[in-house]
Amino acid sequence: MLVRIHQIKVPLDYQEDELPDIVGKHLRCPTGAITNLVVIRRSIDARNKTRAPFFVLSVQLNLPEKSIDKRHRKLLEIVSFDQPEPAQTDPAIQVNHRPRPAVVGAGPAGLMAAVALAEAGLHPVLYERGEAVAERRKSVQAFWSGGVLNEESNALFGEGGAGLFSDGKLTSRSKDRPRLRRFLETLVRCGAPADILIDAEPHLGSDQLAEIVPRLRHHMIEMGGEVHFNHRMDQIEVKSGALASITVNGTRIPADHCVVATGHSARDIYRMFAAGDVPLEGKPFAIGVRLELPQSVINHAQWRQWASHPRLGAASFKLTRKEEMGFRPCYTFCMCPGGIVFACASSRGMLTTNGMSFSRRDTEFGNAAFLAPVRPDDIPATPDDDPAVLDGYKFQETIERAAFHAGGADYGLPACRLSDFLAGTVSAELPVKRSVQRAVPADIRKILPAVICDTLAHAIPRMLQQLSVSVYDEVLLYAAETRSSSPIRITRNREGYSTGVYGLIPCGEGAGYAGGIVSAGIDGLKAAETIIKSYRILASKNQQ
Ligand SMILES: Cc1cc2nc3c(=O)[nH]c(=O)nc-3n(C[C@H](O)[C@H](O)[C@H](O)COP(=O)(O)OP(=O)(O)OC[C@H]3O[C@@H](n4cnc5c(N)ncnc54)[C@H](O)[C@@H]3O)c2cc1C
Repeated sequence: MLVRIHQIKVPLDYQEDELPDIVGKHLRCPTGAITNLVVIRRSIDARNKTRAPFFVLSVQLNLPEKSIDKRHRKLLEIVSFDQPEPAQTDPAIQVNHRPRPAVVGAGPAGLMAAVALAEAGLHPVLYERGEAVAERRKSVQAFWSGGVLNEESNALFGEGGAGLFSDGKLTSRSKDRPRLRRFLETLVRCGAPADILIDAEPHLGSDQLAEIVPRLRHHMIEMGGEVHFNHRMDQIEVKSGALASITVNGTRIPADHCVVATGHSARDIYRMFAAGDVPLEGKPFAIGVRLELPQSVINHAQWRQWASHPRLGAASFKLTRKEEMGFRPCYTFCMCPGGIVFACASSRGMLTTNGMSFSRRDTEFGNAAFLAPVRPDDIPATPDDDPAVLDGYKFQETIERAAFHAGGADYGLPACRLSDFLAGTVSAELPVKRSVQRAVPADIRKILPAVICDTLAHAIPRMLQQLSVSVYDEVLLYAAETRSSSPIRITRNREGYSTGVYGLIPCGEGAGYAGGIVSAGIDGLKAAETIIKSYRILASKNQQ
């Protein structure tokens, strides 16, 4: 019988070969009866301040039914009487159907859509405006070191999408186990460590992502797909409510199915859709600052005297503050333990900030976005003829322009000590120890709206209390965090198509259906399934 057991608490130092004994004791059954034992989930519990942090495991194993004491049956989740889970990969669909499905954008959503289409035998063609990983890294390095911006290939655009230069956190609240498993297993097949399949807070780091993403691409090509870098989609053609073609680098390409996974920095795509047949709607979003503090402080707050334990690593945090006393709620986002802060831009004269880390998470700093929600009243209507749905991203742009100028108009990051921000002054100088060198002292209150600054000034010290941080001189704020989520949703119907254009499949974070690498990857799988389903229907019609 295949069973799972949850909530098994083991010390930090446990060894794999001790697990059958531990599980046997837990179930009061003979160790010899346990076979095929594997850990399927692992998290760390460090909540009790008086005892050492410990692992909490879920395990899966085979056990003869007769060896289970009736009194302990409640500890078990019976999975099935035979092992295999439902097959995840679609069998090839034999259809003589052209044109090939198009996928636009090689971020997690577009890449996974293309991989799944290729695995289903549908020979997708993937178009990406930016460069492949190796060239893209050079463009990004030129930007970070000298402020030379490539508007088509940067920290936001290019193979791997927005998450390539990231912490590579793979946490997700998704309940969609089969697709989540397929996404993570695909990453493992392409070189990710198998630990991501079991860790409660898995992460890869930017260095591992830079190796995995090209392997995903090679896998897709081996399965019959095709990729074109430095190819930007600029237009779509719609006939009788259905997609007829896309225009890429000025060339019209017939297309009846196209996954649009262009991310939320592709503002030109929103503008093009808003002017045409593709319905958009505004959605809530948040803005704020990126805060950096010594990682040792975070480790001490979370792991206490056990901080140096080799199995604990750099600690993270997730902090929230409810709305109170007229101040808006505030929450942390995209925490990067042992990471660095960096400048990003995809348009000249605009600047935003973000955080990333490497797999070892071993810098001296931790950083996270501290965000407050933007409310409709904050967003001024623009005096041009553009549709109102674009106002949210124009509001982001206003802030990004202010940040660019405050940072010295050469893509240096505007920054401020938290102590100065709270005192309403500009830092005379920045701490020498910081993760980003191209940063200059600036007045963050001149970059972000007053209501957001007031919320941050109220909430941040109270939130940092949870990490026992009360000295603010070494805590740095960088501005501005504007791109934590999309201000626009590209509406789609239950099948996954745009509500205005049959055959167009808005997908991922830019479409407003994902917020992170994993959810974007899962949404890419869904987009592929929409196309596969329509091809199946076509194939069965052809057979009749
Ligand atoms: C610095 C940073 C750190 C992050 N860290 C994490 C993290 O640790 N964990 C996490 O879960 N999430 C993280 N995120 C969020 C995560 O990266 C995104 O949620 C995810 O990448 C969204 O995936 P996507 O495929 O929908 O869009 P994107 O990743 O934005 O990909 C869109 C792609 O489309 C391309 N494109 C755009 N327009 C066109 C066009 N017209 N023609 C052709 N191609 C086009 C772009 O170049 C880009 O490659 C981070 C984001 C950033 C910016």
